[in-house]
Amino acid sequence: MQATRTTCPYCGVGCGVRAEIDDGQVVGVTGDEGHPANFGRLCVKGTALHETLGDHGRLVRPRVDGRETDWETALAAVAERLAATRREYGKAAVAGYLSGQLLTEDYYVANKLFKGFLGTPHLDTNSRLCMASAVAAHKRAFGADGVPCCYADLEEAELVVLVGSNLAWNHPVLYQRLKVAKRDNPLLRVVVIDPRVTDSCEIADLYLGLAPGSDARLFTGLLAWMADEGKLDDIYLERHTQGLEGALAAAREEDCRLEAIAADCDLDGERLETFFYWFASHLHVVTLFSQGINQSSSGTDKAGAIINCHLAGGKIGLPGAGPFSITGQPNAMGGREVGGLANQLAAHMDYDSPGARDRVTRFWATEGALPELPEGPGHKAVALFEAIERGEVRALWVMATNPAVSLPKAERVRAALAKCPLVIVSECVTDTDLLRYADIVLPASSWSEKDGTVTNSERCISRQRGLVPPPGEARHDWWIMTEVARRLGFGAAFDYAHPSEIFAEHARLSGFENDADLSQDGARLFDISGLAGLDRGRYDALAPIQWPVTAATPQGTPRLFADGCFATPDGRACLVPVRSQLPAQALSAARPLRLNTGRIRDQWHTMTRTARAPRLMNHRSEPFIELHPDDALAHGVTDRQLARLSGAGGDYLGRIRLARGQRRGEVFVPMHWSDRFSKQARCNGLLAAHLDPHSGQPESKHGAVAIAPL
Ligand code: SF4
Repeated sequence: MQATRTTCPYCGVGCGVRAEIDDGQVVGVTGDEGHPANFGRLCVKGTALHETLGDHGRLVRPRVDGRETDWETALAAVAERLAATRREYGKAAVAGYLSGQLLTEDYYVANKLFKGFLGTPHLDTNSRLCMASAVAAHKRAFGADGVPCCYADLEEAELVVLVGSNLAWNHPVLYQRLKVAKRDNPLLRVVVIDPRVTDSCEIADLYLGLAPGSDARLFTGLLAWMADEGKLDDIYLERHTQGLEGALAAAREEDCRLEAIAADCDLDGERLETFFYWFASHLHVVTLFSQGINQSSSGTDKAGAIINCHLAGGKIGLPGAGPFSITGQPNAMGGREVGGLANQLAAHMDYDSPGARDRVTRFWATEGALPELPEGPGHKAVALFEAIERGEVRALWVMATNPAVSLPKAERVRAALAKCPLVIVSECVTDTDLLRYADIVLPASSWSEKDGTVTNSERCISRQRGLVPPPGEARHDWWIMTEVARRLGFGAAFDYAHPSEIFAEHARLSGFENDADLSQDGARLFDISGLAGLDRGRYDALAPIQWPVTAATPQGTPRLFADGCFATPDGRACLVPVRSQLPAQALSAARPLRLNTGRIRDQWHTMTRTARAPRLMNHRSEPFIELHPDDALAHGVTDRQLARLSGAGGDYLGRIRLARGQRRGEVFVPMHWSDRFSKQARCNGLLAAHLDPHSGQPESKHGAVAIAPL
């Protein structure tokens, strides 16, 4: 029996795993006690990883136009059809749609191929649905997309605020760390702010069950309250920030009396005041936020309102202090690092980063292959599928994700895919909803086979190691793209034999021409040039390390902005004016219930992997609709009964679960089920495609639905 260290492929906690391999198979997993994310802990999904493996249901042969074929034929078809689309309709007629499940090396090659050499700006990722609002808020406030905190801050804090995050279900190991920290330090207080009473409330000293979508109102009210009560950190504000006056003026456009804020948030005034007092009177405060903040038509402003309060109180850059965005996916952070969002160019550089386009062009240029970078940003996820619908984008390559399930207005997305002249899908399994739209199917490797790196929510780069060979003819995503690039005539720029070579190039780009003049360019906060010299042996042995990693910080950087210097031109953080907004999708007589969507504890995404482990199905085995008993009575449904929800884009069938922790007037449904399991349990069919104007992230937490018994 051999044991190899790798990383869990599920959530953004990024736990280290010790995989036991016997006779070419992964036969068991335990937590890696040496990994700084989890110190040996795993949640139930992590402990069941080896139970989800096996060749059954795996894609093992390429397919072109419905017929199985060999790789040579499939790669030639991809290259020829992409080239033909580009030639006849222009570079912008080609697009890619990626995933936070991809490894950083896959992401890097995709970004280089699509933006650098196919010359299209239209490359986006399902991370748009996860944390794009936090990214936009970081850039506005800090000048760069840098998460200030690390997990150890949960253990160093005096107060931890969970807002829009059911940590207990969605990031279980982090929740366990917080629970232990609270046990070991009785003075540590935890506040949970969430419309639903969730399992995370088990450790809450204070619970605020606010009205859905009122988070920004709560935090703009807190900012005004801190100012009125003399609780601002005037010295920190003076030395390290700008914009307080504008942020306060915007906050004060609304009634800032405590009772008015409490009324707007539908909260008890005394509880609200207690929270305000606790937040203002502690320096070491971590506000941990997640999809409940991000998945909103005003998610960037909600995150901005939280960040404003931390800046105004000087609660950032210190042990146990800072706004802390926790990503959903295992490598949402790695995708941001290479520039995998449509508004990014490469290596955290945006199109408007000074000199970025020229710098990346110089870096990617090789003898015989000159990059042709786009002039400006491309379509973000929802807009990309609208461009396909309009016939502007005519060739789409989707990797490791299923937009036919995960995007809002899923039926419209499916219609766009059906209309798209060329759909290429790189996938691991045979039965996803997306494959029926694919002209070319490319069998890809999966967890336990893939070899590369991922970056978790605390900026920690970890190795995800290949443990066993891919089944049949499945291949790694980076290899598939490299082979296509060669057939398109870009081979000199994609001359990789191993992921270590891709990682080294990625690390070199992060520090390329990062001289003194450029150090004020916020995009250059991301610098891992200290890892650029790794050879294959040292890459294979790479221990987890938090970026930036430079010559000056060879051991990595646990906490950002400790010196009070931010990545803006003048080094000051910006407090941004925030005006609170209600959810874009209004309730009506026809759709009187507020819809909330989310994950359940033991499942992951569309369950292609987790549904294979019977014990993971025991927790919640079927689609459900959670609502308050009073609402059930009012709408004529009873516990355990089947019922139908009707929303903007379709219907959803599920079994009623009565829950007193659910606010009246609201329902919660899980996001995992797809057509593989049940024709009418796709929750994203219920949602309208309202987007945050800054991040393009869809409002997945605030639909409007009607309910009826079946
Ligand atoms: Fe995997 Fe997340 Fe569970 Fe850790 S907490 S074992 S990363 S699913």
